[in-house]
Amino acid sequence: MMYKLFIQGIVQGVGFRPYIYRKAKQYNLCGSVKNVGNGVEIIVNDKDFIKKLTDLPPLAKISKYSIIKYTSKEIFSDFSILKSTPSKGETALPADIFLCDDCVKELRDQKNRRHNYYFITCTNCGPRFTMIKDYPYDRPFTSMQEFKMCPECTNEYINPYDRRYHAQTIACKNCGPKLHLLRGTKDLSGLSDIETIQKTVDLLKSGEIISIKGVGGFHTTSLCDDKNVIKIRRLFHRPHKPYAIMVKDIKMAKKITIISQKEKILLESPQRPIVVLRKKNPESFFIASELDTIGVMLPYTALHYLLFDFLKEPLVMTSSNLPGEPISSTEDIGRYFLTHERRIINRCDDSVLKVIDNTPFLLRRSRGFTPLPLQLPIKCKDTVAVGAEMNNVICTVKKNKCYLSQYIGDTSHYETYNYLKETTLKFIHLTRSKPKIIACDLHPGYNSTIFAQELAKKYHTKLVQIQHHMAHVASVAAEHSLTSYIGIAMDGLGYGDDGKLWGGEVFSVYNGNRFTRIGHLEEQPQIGGDSATIYPKKMLFGILSKILTEEELIKLQLFNDKQTRLSLKLLENKSNIQYTTSTGRILDATSALLGFCDMRTYDGRPAMVLESKATSPLKFEPIFSKKDGVTILMTTPLFDFLFSSNAKKGSLAATAQMYLAKGLYMIAEKTARKNNVPIVFSGGVAYNRMISGFLLQHGVLVNKNLPSGDGGICYGQSYLANLSSREKTIEN
Ligand SMILES: [Zn+2]
Ligand SMILES: [Zn+2]
Repeated sequence: MMYKLFIQGIVQGVGFRPYIYRKAKQYNLCGSVKNVGNGVEIIVNDKDFIKKLTDLPPLAKISKYSIIKYTSKEIFSDFSILKSTPSKGETALPADIFLCDDCVKELRDQKNRRHNYYFITCTNCGPRFTMIKDYPYDRPFTSMQEFKMCPECTNEYINPYDRRYHAQTIACKNCGPKLHLLRGTKDLSGLSDIETIQKTVDLLKSGEIISIKGVGGFHTTSLCDDKNVIKIRRLFHRPHKPYAIMVKDIKMAKKITIISQKEKILLESPQRPIVVLRKKNPESFFIASELDTIGVMLPYTALHYLLFDFLKEPLVMTSSNLPGEPISSTEDIGRYFLTHERRIINRCDDSVLKVIDNTPFLLRRSRGFTPLPLQLPIKCKDTVAVGAEMNNVICTVKKNKCYLSQYIGDTSHYETYNYLKETTLKFIHLTRSKPKIIACDLHPGYNSTIFAQELAKKYHTKLVQIQHHMAHVASVAAEHSLTSYIGIAMDGLGYGDDGKLWGGEVFSVYNGNRFTRIGHLEEQPQIGGDSATIYPKKMLFGILSKILTEEELIKLQLFNDKQTRLSLKLLENKSNIQYTTSTGRILDATSALLGFCDMRTYDGRPAMVLESKATSPLKFEPIFSKKDGVTILMTTPLFDFLFSSNAKKGSLAATAQMYLAKGLYMIAEKTARKNNVPIVFSGGVAYNRMISGFLLQHGVLVNKNLPSGDGGICYGQSYLANLSSREKTIEN
């Protein structure tokens, strides 16, 4: 009797079929195994075969299975691996995976033919998405196609008993990409790869900066001492942006940072992301990160492992890119390059995570995650959503699967805007999308909005514009399959329904997309429009103008006399002033008031420095007012309190953060209790550990597999655009 076993989970691109083949052979069974769309189908003459699968390949995971009797005239005399039959509309694109334990063992084994080979990989590990030109995932469609397999590699590739059976990245010292150390175009490579690596480390130790080719792009690398890091800062015109470091192992990480069990698991996970960790000494590595945290990652390619064989200290490793531009995938930024011949087809930055209250928050979902799809709770039409402006990520949606792109960046920059366009078209192709809906932000000035209009024209489809904060809260709701809920959105800014700048909002939502704005922060003047986002003192001046007299404001000397008078005039005439309910701006202004930060030299800086300095809050209860049935959390009284208090700055920083968290929570909680619905929270401010910590402790739901910041916007846009298009269809 034959049985058909259907297995779902992480079972494709992880060496699952050869594993099944070997198991079947081990027990002398007959039948076949093949990949089908969203799982693996096994025909086998053993009802209890599933019970034999106890030692799965390291990355494989069975989440669901079913067994039925298989009736067919087919006669099986052997067990075989069949060619995949991708079912229609399903796309199983693999993500990049770190170097596996078996490969590390071989890398260290002097007798192995890949001993010290920096490009060692297998069926279970190695680059995937970053080298894919097209789908399906097969060597001819990857940048490995340029390297002809040697006879030994070919034998491994075709042997189902080999752990490199059908490993598309298979390579060895004889046939694989070669390693080069370059100074400009001059080749400084050693006689052997190890000699080249040794030379690279010598250069690093002598104080040079090296651009090292990784999986999805180049890292600009140096030792962590101040002198070297300052050099990198000059190279990229980045005075303060926190840089991540790579450590040899957990032991080295523990010397510098405090690591929880959860954080350790994330550091060591197959995606090998950057994990933002608390420094043991907040003042250490200050030039690399001015915050009390630092981003840390473990080696994830054989090249990284080999570099650390010669190093006893961490390395600064930052994406090679000019501010706002995409990560470099060629030898164009820097003087020295440690590079190899495999082309990077899809650029992909490192992913970044941070744990708050034992809950992981994705700051950036990129290498290791892209292009694995996330589920949506409804069946969608083919959709393309282009996200917002900053921290841009796009997605294509097919049915209930959302394929999020890698991190794209700040699309107000020309280079990044082109990268956005290129990535969108690539995703449309890779997922074989036939767009029926294009979704974008409500902001008329975003480049992404302009591009969405072009796309809608190109595909003769409609454009659905989604309000920024509604997309934020809907992204959490969709992840938790909620249709009625209260949503809190806190972030820098988004274009509101009323044309004002929103960013501290509470919505009551029913039916998935019926939004009522039930609360928000007090509107505050933003002097000089956008420039107030760079100079938080401008924001502070506007708020204090409600509390202090003109004379007091002048005495305060936030600006020179001329500037002060100009600002007062602008306020009086209400010219060049925007009004905003942004939480980010309030955190910025607090940071300026306490003297922590008066220039935003990188995204979120004033608020992040504030978070870093905050200790424990003072008791100061939220103050509300009401207007047209909407509850407003007043922020002017907060500044009145902060301004006149003599408490320590750390306490005041904490007080401001807690005031915002508690205030918006109280607005949400009142309606949530009345309607008996859950509360969700999203937006860039969700990365603030005190604010999210407070909300998590009060049972508020947050994003699970999606960034809370603007990197998750496209998912919320897709969801809401499909809900509204569904209704239109019903109404018609
Ligand atoms: Zn491996
Ligand atoms: Zn070879």
